[in-house]
Amino acid sequence: MRTCPGASDWCARNCYNGDTSGEVVFNRPLWFANERHARENPEGLGRVILRQLADAARGATPPVVAVRVHSSGDFFGERYVSMWRDIARAVPQHLFWAYTRSWVIPAMLPAFDELRRLPNFQLFASVDHTMGHPPAGWRVSRVRDPRVPGTEAEQPRPKVRQIACPEEYREGIDCAKCRFCLLPRTGDVIFNVH
Ligand code: SF4
Repeated sequence: MRTCPGASDWCARNCYNGDTSGEVVFNRPLWFANERHARENPEGLGRVILRQLADAARGATPPVVAVRVHSSGDFFGERYVSMWRDIARAVPQHLFWAYTRSWVIPAMLPAFDELRRLPNFQLFASVDHTMGHPPAGWRVSRVRDPRVPGTEAEQPRPKVRQIACPEEYREGIDCAKCRFCLLPRTGDVIFNVH
């Protein structure tokens, strides 16, 4: 939770990385080491990530890497957001995308706006049914909770394309094939709680 300053109470209760049942084994020491690195030396971590991207792109055809920023956790401060801005600026050939609830922190919005202006970075305001409306102009990712009456019937925003993430219901589809979130087109995405 300390890396998710914008998490709603609903999000904290339903976090898919908050499993304490023991069914899923997370590499928590690695998580904590990464977090320490990000807080204490984001510029150094940025250099490490750029080297990893160069390695990943070598031999790829075409040499383009798509980076989903955070499979869990979130942007926890402006300096950390700026680290991702600098990374994305340094490698405009690569594609980045992320979902964040930290849009609820007003002090972070200017840093987010810099990130959102980059053509190779798609940033979604992540929301659930307990949250308010994200700032105008953002792409939105909405989590639908079928256990809560009414959230099934979430209507698209006027004039904004909206899709249900096909990875959740179509065999063989993943982000590399779908690409809806990676590419700079306007559109919102809906996920089921998982
Ligand atoms: S909508 Fe497409 S790109 Fe976005 S998360 Fe789902 S499969 Fe990936």
